[in-house]
Amino acid sequence: MVMVDRDKLEVTKGAENLTEYQFNTKAAIHYFCKTCGIYTHHQKRRDDNYAFNIGCVDSLSVDDLEEVMKIEGSAFSTVESE
Ligand SMILES: [Zn+2]
Repeated sequence: MVMVDRDKLEVTKGAENLTEYQFNTKAAIHYFCKTCGIYTHHQKRRDDNYAFNIGCVDSLSVDDLEEVMKIEGSAFSTVESE
């Protein structure tokens, strides 16, 4: 996830295939793909920025960034182990 000023992010294709979701306090609007469910970006209500999934930007790769923490999302589970 990368943060940018609100005026620096534009969805150039596929906007019609996004759906919104608001968690818990509803302080942010999160956008997901209706087809595959991937998180694309979110907008905090009070901040002047967006956070976006760099994997959804064709011209960027996480390998192009320095000092970035890489995680394997498929290793996460929503089920707590006992
Ligand atoms: Zn998708």
